[in-house]
Amino acid sequence: MSSVVGRPLAICVVYPDLLGTYGDGGNGVVLAKRAQWRGIDVELLYAPSDRPLPEADVYTIGGGEDGPQVRAATTLIEDGTLVRRVAEGAVVLGVCAGFQLIGRSFPDSADRVCDGVGLLDLTTRKGTGPRAVGELVATPAADAPRGMHGVALPRLTGFENHGGVSIVGPGARPLATVERGIGNGGGDGSEGAWSGRVLGTYLHGPVLARNTALADLLLGWALAPDGSAQGTVAELEGLDDYEELALRSERLEAVDAQVAGGWRSMVGRVRARR
Ligand code: GLN
Repeated sequence: MSSVVGRPLAICVVYPDLLGTYGDGGNGVVLAKRAQWRGIDVELLYAPSDRPLPEADVYTIGGGEDGPQVRAATTLIEDGTLVRRVAEGAVVLGVCAGFQLIGRSFPDSADRVCDGVGLLDLTTRKGTGPRAVGELVATPAADAPRGMHGVALPRLTGFENHGGVSIVGPGARPLATVERGIGNGGGDGSEGAWSGRVLGTYLHGPVLARNTALADLLLGWALAPDGSAQGTVAELEGLDDYEELALRSERLEAVDAQVAGGWRSMVGRVRARR
């Protein structure tokens, strides 16, 4: 029996008025569509920051600027619904600012330490190097959550744009290892983090449009039978992902070509110097 039997699966895009800069609201649309295409009844909720956060089964939190990020964190802490729903088994996807603010703390624009919602053992500080901007490709960690049929997630693709550097504490696990780009940026080569049914990443794209296996993992968590162990993933019907796979390969090939191009031009420069 599914936890949402008898009612629609509620997917909530958290505070798009504050955290709508990078198109991460698309993650809610991807989840809703992938559930509907399988005949699952869905309610897609856009939750403005001036209203109580609705009850939902899945919350997606997007990226944004430093100021709105602080407001979003403060409002979520005061509201209390997100923390309670996670304790009750809700799934959370946080992206960039949304990732940082579900952690323990993050800096504001003046580098003051702000409280995060505390759903992930993650601490963010201001980076000292240039802002991390560009394509990001990462290989899921060996112990990263597995998708349907126990299959490991494939390479993760997206783009990043952040100044913060995040350290994953012992209470959470890094999601992936960076192949190309910066990711968490703390020097261990990690990207993203997860714990229970809470997952965060620096990948925009929207990440679930470029990584449908990740979308299905989150849906699988949300649709796992009531009372099942935390990591249980409901088996969902396969979908024809031709267009999604084409987008994915196009982006991955562009990055691979850039890497190969970089090597070619470096070899060319070395040869020219001889
Ligand atoms: N303000 C945060 C940072 O720069 C998050 C940016 C974002 O969400 N893209 O680190």
